[in-house]
Amino acid sequence: MEKNQIVELEITDLSYEAMGVAHYEGLTIFVNNALPGEIVQAKILKIKKNFAFAKVEKFLQKSSDRMDVPLRQWVQTGLAALAHMKYERQLEFKKKQVVNLLEKVHLNKKVNDCLASPESTAYRNKAQVPVRMVNGQLEVGFFRKHSHDLVPMTDFLTTDKKIDAAVVAVRDILRKFNVPAYDEIKHNGEVRYLEIRRSKANGQLMIVLVCLHKSFNNLDAVVQAIKSLDNVACVILNHNPHKTNVILGEKEYILAGNGEIVDKIGDLSFKISSQSFFQINSLQTPRLYNLAIQKAQLTADDVVIDAYSGIGTIGLSVAKHVKKVLGVEIVRDAVKDAKKNAILNGINNAEYFEGKAEELMPQWANEGLKTDVIFVDPPRKGLTDTFIKAAVATSPKKIVYISCNPATMIRDLQVFQAAGYDFDCIDPVDMFPQTPHVETIVLLSKLGSK
Ligand code: SAH
Repeated sequence: MEKNQIVELEITDLSYEAMGVAHYEGLTIFVNNALPGEIVQAKILKIKKNFAFAKVEKFLQKSSDRMDVPLRQWVQTGLAALAHMKYERQLEFKKKQVVNLLEKVHLNKKVNDCLASPESTAYRNKAQVPVRMVNGQLEVGFFRKHSHDLVPMTDFLTTDKKIDAAVVAVRDILRKFNVPAYDEIKHNGEVRYLEIRRSKANGQLMIVLVCLHKSFNNLDAVVQAIKSLDNVACVILNHNPHKTNVILGEKEYILAGNGEIVDKIGDLSFKISSQSFFQINSLQTPRLYNLAIQKAQLTADDVVIDAYSGIGTIGLSVAKHVKKVLGVEIVRDAVKDAKKNAILNGINNAEYFEGKAEELMPQWANEGLKTDVIFVDPPRKGLTDTFIKAAVATSPKKIVYISCNPATMIRDLQVFQAAGYDFDCIDPVDMFPQTPHVETIVLLSKLGSK
């Protein structure tokens, strides 16, 4: 086989990144924008030792699961890598991912159906959009897969339409005042990314300009113009002077407003500042939390830990039903938000601490803390063995594990099993329609405890 060769392929599976999978002359071939059951003429793009990448030249047989995608860049760039698949099938695909991962490690546990998102498009309350010069003009869009080539785009499918409109409005302001976009190769220019958040509860917008320098020509005029757009609550300059793929820098300058917006989850209000994590699917989040809370079967005497607590959303949602909540979170501003949010909601039995969960948990365990229920909601890399050991040492009856990466979660569940905990089932919850990302919830119970 060689590059640029045209081959006929039958797609038999979908990879966890939502690429069609085919086999040809002993090689596994990943085909963008192809679904199981389809037969395609494909062009080989890249050949590695055991696998190759190809792109569809012509469909010889299409799947009945296929959706028409008005903008092929959505699938091509990976922005919405599953947009070409009917939503019901996406949910089945997500469930199957979890089933496959369990099979791999020979765990025989039930996987429930994936809980559908109330909105399957325009659900995101936040956009992080790269800004680059394309043919001499400042453009917003999305990077081509595995590259930093900007594909200009103004309809992001999964993002709140009002955010898409704000992205375009800010782009036009930057153009009007001749602000140059960042150039990654030369490491010059100004604006690297736009980050925009919108409160579903009250429509407030937070506009963050991620910039190479602290200031630039016409910055004041740009801020004035952004401030006068509808519903802009704050404008922030995030200073990222580094040669890095990390989007945000550490230092921020609030240029308008007080640097936060307020959104709601259920009955509770939450202040959110720009560096804090906040679940991006506003309507599905309360359903995720309710499922997690229901599983925990909390009682009024419970001491509860909210680990990886962000701005305190999970712990504050349960505080009124339990004796005490202790939260731990690594991002300083998120901890500040969590503390403010406790006050904002009249909660006085929840305390939030800044630190690494894997360091604070052992400290708490050493001090003799006993817990009843621990909620964990770590980032993609999951928990550490140190964390798990310390969590178990506080002898919780239950641990509720919320995860955005089923692979690391299943790894960690096995560590909990070895430490005397077990689980019956895994619940996938679709927080990220049109993308292959899978969120899951598991209830671990201490063996022998009622
Ligand atoms: N439970 C929250 C946040 C979940 S996201 C919610 O539902 O909104 C995961 C959070 O873990 C992020 O806020 C991130 O800043 C934090 N985090 C990442 N690594 C951490 C660590 N080692 N210790 C504590 N918190 C960490």
